Amino acid sequence: AAQKSRYKRILVKLSGEALMGDDAYGINRDTLNRIVAEIGAVAALGVEVGVVIGGGNIFRGVAGASTGMDRATADYMGMLATVINAMALSDAMRQAGINARVQSALNVEQVIEPYIRGKAIRYLEEGKVVVFAAGTGNPFFTTDTAAALRGSEIGAEVVMKATKVDGVYTADPVKDKSARRYERISFDEAISRNLKVMDATALALCRDQSLPIVVFSIFKEGALRRVVLGESEGTMVHS
Ligand code: UDP
Repeated sequence: AAQKSRYKRILVKLSGEALMGDDAYGINRDTLNRIVAEIGAVAALGVEVGVVIGGGNIFRGVAGASTGMDRATADYMGMLATVINAMALSDAMRQAGINARVQSALNVEQVIEPYIRGKAIRYLEEGKVVVFAAGTGNPFFTTDTAAALRGSEIGAEVVMKATKVDGVYTADPVKDKSARRYERISFDEAISRNLKVMDATALALCRDQSLPIVVFSIFKEGALRRVVLGESEGTMVHS
């Protein structure tokens, strides 16, 4: 029998750092292709996939502001960094034969069409992967918050947060060998324990919308697919 997805529509949050692989900066081609394959495998199950892409591999507003730059200006630069990543991601999808569309929250109409919710939903219904660029389009926010926002808007059943670690741990697993991974944890407990799932704004939005988050490793082969199939993988943060 065909393997059945637990979800009909998902929102995947890919950080810019995920695209770096082991490089210090920018986009690593092999890593990009691997991520595209992971997304393609899930789309092939018939799951509708939206992707919010970060920009931290190129520019972060906080880093710019720390050198004296105006914070809002630095944040707009960060959003433009996500536009670069979105273009790289969608082109890699095109090369892999995945039908993808990109929409941007900032107008860069010569290269990417603007974000239009109804159109994004129609693309998803047509089986196209939709990549959301430029975060929320507003400074002082993050692409995690954009993931919570777009996830809510498109009616995703879950936000899949791709990270370098395979879930949420009781302590930093790199520093503390006794750290344990949570299989499930409530929003309230994640917030009260100050666990680094997403930033507070993103977490609050997901909690308000009862939109669960699954934290999983993008570097573990097949992890995204296993999460989608409902197998034990990563950590589910829930209401
Ligand atoms: N950013 C912003 N508003 C948004 C999303 C992102 O101003 O709605 C800026 C912010 O400066 C951020 C940068 O874009 O540092 C890159 O996004 P983020 O740090 O979330 O990327 P990631 O950590 O996922 O790579």
